[in-house]
Amino acid sequence: MRCGAGIDARMVDELAINIDPIQAGGRLTADAMKAVVAYGDGYSVCDNCRKPNRLDYISKPPIAEFHKDLAAWLNMDTARVVPGARRGFQAVAHTYVHKGDPVLLTSLSHYTEFLAIEEADGIACEIPADEQNIVTADAAAVKIEEVKKQHGRLPVLAFIDHVDYQYGNIHDVQAIAKVAHQYDIPLLYNGAYTVGILPVDGKNLCADFVVGSGHKSMAAPAPSGVLAATVERAKEVFRTTAITGDVTGRKFGIKEPELMGCTLMGVTLVGMMASFPHIKERVKHFGRELENAGTVLDALRSIQGTSVLSEYPRKHTLTRIDTTASLDAVAQTHKKRGFFFSGALGEKGVTGIIPGATRVWKYNTYGITRSQARYVAQVFVDIALENGLKVA
Ligand SMILES: *Cc1c(COP(=O)(O)O)cnc(C)c1O
Repeated sequence: MRCGAGIDARMVDELAINIDPIQAGGRLTADAMKAVVAYGDGYSVCDNCRKPNRLDYISKPPIAEFHKDLAAWLNMDTARVVPGARRGFQAVAHTYVHKGDPVLLTSLSHYTEFLAIEEADGIACEIPADEQNIVTADAAAVKIEEVKKQHGRLPVLAFIDHVDYQYGNIHDVQAIAKVAHQYDIPLLYNGAYTVGILPVDGKNLCADFVVGSGHKSMAAPAPSGVLAATVERAKEVFRTTAITGDVTGRKFGIKEPELMGCTLMGVTLVGMMASFPHIKERVKHFGRELENAGTVLDALRSIQGTSVLSEYPRKHTLTRIDTTASLDAVAQTHKKRGFFFSGALGEKGVTGIIPGATRVWKYNTYGITRSQARYVAQVFVDIALENGLKVA
């Protein structure tokens, strides 16, 4: 099958068990796939757009209701859809950060948070993670005092990733938020790896903003995401336009400048909506996901020379491991060098590991079944044994 224009059909999740760190939580549900087909045309959600003409007011399909449900589900007051978590960071940074303002993030923060600060001409101030690769509230307090001394003013905003993309470790956002609030610093909870994966309660976390990624963790097409806020903060970030044309005198009603008016106008939003009932259900069963992750990790740990770099026991399915003393030792003399590992995985129907990686690598078992987890575990052990490694 060909899609034309030189595009082959993509057959990845159809042909193999995919444990790619960033793809696991974004795989579409069957309902989202149907929505993609039905709403593929440009501006397709605008069929029934009536005054006051804004995306989150459309009632057919039930976009207005979806916005309310989304906010309630995250236990926040207001929600908007955005083209990716990064666009949520951008809207918030653009609202609060002015030239030379210090902004808190962490030594494990995602690059898109840095870029959001850069675009607003802010200064990135990283709270260092400790030796266990955990960002603590104490470290946040120390950093805020350091920033105050160094820059003569307090950070104007804090970006904290609940689960970081490097280790998949969980950081105590609530405790960090309490510290930030003592200094009146608003806190953005980055749930790129949590919203749609495990239950998220924004108010309980003391978050001013909750950001999620549709295509990373909500089984939605890219680019999609959510930006939710408390009432107070919603007034600031979701303020409405005040501009007037100097010739025509035109005004633009209730359009929100930080969102450039409307955001997701077709497949992205309707795909997200179609998956929503499924993700509301799946977050209740994160325990099963951890069990599957444990099965796979136990197998990897049984390969002599392999160590877990993520916190252990695991609290998330995204895991970083070090196989320098096991798989990489094999790669040194193997005729395929480092590619022996990804090659062997491919032959056995497992995909998603960076080709050639044998030292430090990540994988994410989210969404696979119990029997697939057992199979993947066996595949790792078999590859180790076939290459002369010891398995405990
Ligand atoms: C993937 C990721 C992002 C970016 O998400 P998008 O929805 O692609 O913009 C941001 N932060 C973290 C921690 C991530 O893992």
